[in-house]
Amino acid sequence: MIKAKEISKVFGNNTVLKNISTTINTGEVVAVIGPSGSGKSTFLRCLNLLEEPTSGEIYLNDKKITDKKVDKLVVRKNIGMVFQHFHLFPHMTVLDNVTYAPQKVKGLSKSEAQKIAKELLAKVGLTDKENAYPNRLSGGQKQRVAIARALAMEPEIMLFDEPTSALDPEMVKEVLDVMKDLAGTGMTMVIVTHEMNFAKEVADRVLFLDDGVLLEEGDPKEFFKQPKTERARDFLDKVL
Ligand code: ADP
Ligand code: MG
Repeated sequence: MIKAKEISKVFGNNTVLKNISTTINTGEVVAVIGPSGSGKSTFLRCLNLLEEPTSGEIYLNDKKITDKKVDKLVVRKNIGMVFQHFHLFPHMTVLDNVTYAPQKVKGLSKSEAQKIAKELLAKVGLTDKENAYPNRLSGGQKQRVAIARALAMEPEIMLFDEPTSALDPEMVKEVLDVMKDLAGTGMTMVIVTHEMNFAKEVADRVLFLDDGVLLEEGDPKEFFKQPKTERARDFLDKVL
């Protein structure tokens, strides 16, 4: 579904992604792990063109989206993204947060958008919060709204950048459970996470980034049991 071919990204004189190539297949759940500053967020942001790779190519369903002529907004319509810090619209109710983009970007009527939004809010367990404003929600609830909002665009692929890192510990599970359900529906997902148990249990594949290099890529069970590189072993020793 999405293919990165020799992606590099340079900020000033800092090369933060070095020749990354990988393919994410339809329905696959891929966990991206690695030390802070290793380029995980930059990699994710390149996939939906929030960052422009300095070199290399990205294909979405065989279409080269790094081509200058491609409309970035059309690409992003098909790729949902969930951030560490939610980024909800603070002045809108939960329901309006979820219905806004489908109306503005996809041209759905208000009632069409609300029908989809209500289904998604039910799925993430927030039917009773439709009319609440974000500042009245817990972190876990905010993140579930953010997931529903991204899904309302009916994306082909969902990117998550440390979706539980800003949450109090007791709220991590409710968000991971929603993500696990989503994975069970066959959604294609790329998830930057420090939740190693989640990666082990839910991901089909793990990518280990270290200093901008895709150092290891493989089956989570094998990776966590027996990483091939010393860098990965060191990292796992620190976090597990
Ligand atoms: P991670 O998500 O793994 O912690 P990032 O992708 O956020 O890593 O960052 C990788 C490197 O790129 C870091 O050294 C960071 O300082 C740098 N970086 C990220 N975004 C920018 C930017 N917009 N401008 C300059 N440097 C950046
Ligand atoms: Mg990051």
